[in-house]
Amino acid sequence: MNYQEILEHVCQEIQPFSKEGKQADYIPALAKVNPDQFGICLHTIGGETFAVGKATTRFSIQSISKVFALAMCLSLEGDELWKRMGKEPSGTAFNSLIQLEEEKGIPRNPFINAGAIVMTDILLSKLANPEEEFLSFVHSLCGTNSVSYNEEVARSERSRGYLNAAIANMLKYYHNIENDIERVLQFYFLMCSVEMSCQELSKAFLSFANHKKSFQYNHIMLTSSQVKRMNAIMQTCGFYDEAGEFSYLVGLPGKSGVGGGIAAIYPMRYSVAVWSPRLNPKGNSVMGMKALELLTTETQESIF
Ligand code: GLN
Repeated sequence: MNYQEILEHVCQEIQPFSKEGKQADYIPALAKVNPDQFGICLHTIGGETFAVGKATTRFSIQSISKVFALAMCLSLEGDELWKRMGKEPSGTAFNSLIQLEEEKGIPRNPFINAGAIVMTDILLSKLANPEEEFLSFVHSLCGTNSVSYNEEVARSERSRGYLNAAIANMLKYYHNIENDIERVLQFYFLMCSVEMSCQELSKAFLSFANHKKSFQYNHIMLTSSQVKRMNAIMQTCGFYDEAGEFSYLVGLPGKSGVGGGIAAIYPMRYSVAVWSPRLNPKGNSVMGMKALELLTTETQESIF
């Protein structure tokens, strides 16, 4: 498969969509990012790397960090995790409060904000140095120690984080948060603020693509069955209320973030990360989704 040629072709084909959508501006620091950027990088299980566009430019990974948090929580908690959240698609926006109230403080899944806020609480309870340990886990996955938090983005999000604060308060009311709410929110926003390039993100996701091998990075260990199940959750819940659409158009497990990034995997074949800041109304990158749709169409490779 000539992935390089296909990625270059995909990059040309998505140009008509280059002005569609707009970047997230509810986080003031993200409103400053130049929206007209695009990068893509693909790593094969066999060790090859292919890239086009701004594949080495770092961006805010935002909700893609929820995948790393889930890997850590599954390793630390095992199936106990599912007492505090579900694993069903939400069919609602990533920051919706309504469902959380109806379901009495049990988030539908780990990839909506409510689920990730509970995972943040778990990491705070279980780890001695959660901020350092989260980052060093990401370093070990992507193989680059310079990946870091952007504290300005985290502060900027906190300054307008009314909805996430409401979610955290509701979780606390239903006894699904152990730690101090402000501490939980601070760490949640910090995790979202991690900056990585497509190349780093794709490399980090290669371990999830390689699900037949068990997974061990630092003290975070997952069995191959747990990695496989993480992929199932990415498939069903990775794109909020657009998970069905992504599955229909792209057909790969993946996860998006409001920084405009999407990471996806083709199990036992490759991982891919794409970034373009302009988002559709559901909060997913317009060019990113289009590029992945074309990638799986042109390669005729998807899990279906
Ligand atoms: N930090 C963002 C938020 O909580 C993450 C959302 C996202 O990327 N979908 O709103």
